[in-house]
Amino acid sequence: AKKQGRNCTVAYRAGATPSGGGKLQLLQELREGLERREFRLLFQPLFSADLRLVALEALVRWQHPRRGLLPPSEFIAVCEESGLIVELGRRVLHEAARHHALLAQQGLGHVRLSVNVSAMQFAHGLLDDVQQVVREFQLPPGALELELTESVIVDDPARAAQVMVALAELGVTLAIDDFGVGYSSLSYLKRLPIHRLKIDRSFVNDLESDASDRSICEAVIALARTLQLGVVAEGVESEFQRDWLRSSGAGELQGYLFAKPLPFETATQVAPVAAEP
Ligand code: C2E
Ligand code: CA
Ligand code: CA
Ligand code: CA
Repeated sequence: AKKQGRNCTVAYRAGATPSGGGKLQLLQELREGLERREFRLLFQPLFSADLRLVALEALVRWQHPRRGLLPPSEFIAVCEESGLIVELGRRVLHEAARHHALLAQQGLGHVRLSVNVSAMQFAHGLLDDVQQVVREFQLPPGALELELTESVIVDDPARAAQVMVALAELGVTLAIDDFGVGYSSLSYLKRLPIHRLKIDRSFVNDLESDASDRSICEAVIALARTLQLGVVAEGVESEFQRDWLRSSGAGELQGYLFAKPLPFETATQVAPVAAEP
């Protein structure tokens, strides 16, 4: 699905899931899948503007016994509706954090691991789980980043603030994922310990042809600069997008132009395409 507009993204979030019996069967298979450890992580690299590896984003996949390797669009919504996301998210967090030591062994201890967290997981024991992995894997400050959507903050702002402050005290950095597609006010950005904005790829897709998308990206970059936040542009697929975003001040880039989500061993070996002189 090359052309996925902003509206599609919203519709997908609302849950493009099967209904009725199909959903029950999926739920049963998900429970079994968790038990049988059928979930695994791929890692997509993020690069600085000078094209150094700065982070790996963990993206979950389900190795389904019959249907093959399934992307999150096939199962995350049902996990969220059923609450299974809490257990799945805990596994993902643990599995991702385990890779810090492997990075350090390769001299890549400065490369952060970034983990997506759903709103329900955030509200159900996330802080305890993070505390546990920080201790178990002795994660130094900056080693772990959590990618949250604005919905986390909208759902219960006071509680979100408490948890976010506690996470920051653990040395965990926080990114706002899909920035720009939510509907919340921006005032939270100055109150909460947020380190980075990830510009949603729906704004990056048509940069070359769409002047309003360019304006939106410029506005997000300017906002981030004023608030002293980092900016990641996701979904970079073309050299035009790469060069435009770099020269506009996006600090970090991620997308198929550099690498798709990959097994860990491969993800750390990706050398980005040569920088323009
Ligand atoms: P996201 O966090 O916005 O992640 C970016 C998605 O865009 C990923 O899809 C990634 O593979 C894809 N992508 C990256 N670069 C490009 C590009 O250049 N072009 C295009 N067309 N796509 C690109 P993926 O892996 O299928 O994940 C989809 C969504 O599922 C994620 O969106 C995230 O919201 C959710 N997700 C993935 N893993 C987890 C997880 O462990 N926990 C939770 N709660 N959600 C997860
Ligand atoms: Ca993400
Ligand atoms: Ca997301
Ligand atoms: Ca996104």
